[in-house]
Parts: sequence; structure tokens; C-alpha cells
Amino acid sequence: MNPDVWLAAVIGAAVGALTVALVVHRRRRKEIIARTLVPHRTRQLLSVLQSGAVIVRRDRRAAFVNNPATAIGVARPDGALLPAVADLAEVAWKRGEAVEEEIPVKRGVLGVTSQVHVRAVPLDEDLVLAVVNDNTELRLAEQSRREFAINVSHELKTPVGALSLLAESIEEGADDEHMVRSFAGKMRKETRRLTKLIQEIIEISRLQGGDSVLVHADVDIAAVIAEAIDGAHLAAEAKDITITADIKATPMALGDHDLLLMALRNLVDNAVHYSNPGKRVTVSCTEADDTVSIAVMDQGIGIDLKDQERIFERFFRTDPARSRESGGTGLGLSIVKHVALQHAGAVDVWSQPGVGSTFTLRLQTHQGEQ
Ligand code: ADP
Repeated sequence: MNPDVWLAAVIGAAVGALTVALVVHRRRRKEIIARTLVPHRTRQLLSVLQSGAVIVRRDRRAAFVNNPATAIGVARPDGALLPAVADLAEVAWKRGEAVEEEIPVKRGVLGVTSQVHVRAVPLDEDLVLAVVNDNTELRLAEQSRREFAINVSHELKTPVGALSLLAESIEEGADDEHMVRSFAGKMRKETRRLTKLIQEIIEISRLQGGDSVLVHADVDIAAVIAEAIDGAHLAAEAKDITITADIKATPMALGDHDLLLMALRNLVDNAVHYSNPGKRVTVSCTEADDTVSIAVMDQGIGIDLKDQERIFERFFRTDPARSRESGGTGLGLSIVKHVALQHAGAVDVWSQPGVGSTFTLRLQTHQGEQ
């Protein structure tokens, strides 16, 4: 081989080896500096925190980043730091005290922005500890609670307003016995609606409270179906609607009898309310793979596809006037959904306008005491 080529190859290899050695040396040095800045015990401690924890250096890089901080997206394990966190650390040094701020953080390929709470505490002249919490879910829950409170006030206004008007009319027409009787009947209807609304508001608040409200006991599903059908008997008779039970399995489920009955009652009541006179409602019960499926089928007015995913929302109605007329509150299906969730079960709907709807509640079966 040409001596010049040899020489070039040797020099090339030497430069390469030197570069690799330099990179390795720098990385080790960085690690040693970082380790000296943040002692092992402190790292261990910060690693077990649920909140994000970042130790910020003067050069606007992180000397330590725990996993939650990486997951939240404020810093990378290699020390790269979100500029807003470095800015906050500088403010903390300048003031010589803890400072806090809400910082927008973009995450994921979709670039979803969440508001992250950062509290920066100066540890000494060189280091700041930034504690980071993503409160997005908490804020959404708070917003949902606020919306619920506004909706509840709005829903309560209607029957209370109606009662007040009816009372006024009775006062004005006190001499007309027929009118007084008719208005008194209407007042009773509004009061019933109000009572149902208040009961359901209490129930949904309890179910959404987060804590488990279940009384755990063996529940005979076929018996609950029979009770639910019995409860809807009068309303069905008044509309000449036949309710049939089609029980192919008689399983037990572990859960709360009263809550399961309430959920099933809501489904059967709806099947009757949203069907025209003379139609048929069938409640079937089947079991497969440790799951019991309770299906409530009607030949009613059905639900548009666009509304099907919204009907489980609180106070959503496809036809508010029809719902109110039948004493509906718009909370029934939301209660069903939460009862299912509390039982680690599920509820879904199949529906076609003009053909009918089938709501299926699925629960895990339980063998009970042998
Ligand atoms: P409501 O008290 O209004 O019945 P729900 O939460 O039980 O409230 O139901 C929400 C909405 O879903 C109802 O207002 C109605 O529009 C629709 N819906 C529920 N069940 C049925 C059904 N079986 N057939 C047709 N529409 C239904």
C-alpha cells in the first residue's frame, strides 16, 4: 500500500480514538459534577416522589430530573430544560425565596398543551429545586363541578317557576273550584318532578364523588330484573305497553342491590317513556365468560346516531320537551353509566330512529359462597 495512504489511515484512526476518548471523558466529568452537586441520597429521595422534581443549575440545565418531571415534559434526562422553568429558577435566585407559576407545556405528537404548576425553591447559590405538578385533570374536574352546579340551578328553576305560577293562578281563581282542582293537580305533578330531580342530583353527586359508594353483597340479577319490571308496570299499563322478561341465565353479581335496581329501573322506565302506545319492551338476561348481559329492548322512537354518544351526559336530552313532559330529568342514563362504572361494568346502546333502542348493561358475575 502507498505509504501516504497508510499515514492518512493511521492519523485518521488516532484522531477518531482521541475524539471518542474525549467524549467519554466529558460525559464522565459531567456525571461526576452532577453527582457531586446532587448527593446520592437526595437523588434517591427525589426519585420516589410522585411530583416532578428538577434540580436546576446556574447554566440553565438540570443537574437532576426525576421520571415524573420527564413525563410531564419540563426536562429531559440529559439535562435539557424547558426555558420557562429555567427562567423561574432565575427569579427564585434573584429574590432568594420560593416562587411559583403556571407554565404551559406542549406534549406528544399532537402538541396538546397542559398547564403545569411549578414551584422553584433556591437551595443555595448554585442550585434551585423545581417541584412540578400537572393539574390538568384536577382543573377539568373542577370545571365539570362548576358546570354541574350551573346546570342544577337551571334545571331547578323550571319546576320552581312553574309551581310559583300555579300558586298565583290558584290565588287569583280561588272561587273557581274546577280551576283550583286542575291547578292543584298540576302542582302535584311539578312537585313529583322536583322531588325526582333532587333525588337524582343527590344520587349522581354521590356516584361521581370518586369514593366507592357500593354495598358489596351478592345480588340476584334475575330478581332485580323482576323488581325493575314490576316498578314500571303501572306506567306501561297506562300506555298499553307489554314488558316481557327473557331470562336465559340466573347469575349473581357482586355489588349494590339498590344501585343496580335504580340503574335497571331507569332503563326500563326510558323504554316505556320513549315508546308509543301498544309497543313491546323486552328485558333479557344472558351469561357468557363470567359476564352477565342485561339488555333492555324497545320498539320506541329511537335515537339519532349523532346523539347516541351524548345521551349518557348529565342533563342531555334529544327532545327536552318530551323528556320533561314524561317527568324526565336528563340524569337517568348518566346514573346508569356511573352505576356500571362503580361495578367495573359497562353500558352501551344500539338504536335506530323509528325502529327502537337496546341498552345493554354488562356486569361481572360472582359465584358467591359455596
Ligand atoms: P330523561 O330523564 O330525559 O329520560 P335520561 O338520561 O334517562 O334522561 O336519557 C337521556 C335522553 O336519552 C332522553 O332525554 C332521551 O332523549 C334519550 N333516551 C333515553 N332512553 C331512550 C330510549 N329508550 N329511546 C329513545 N330515547 C331515549
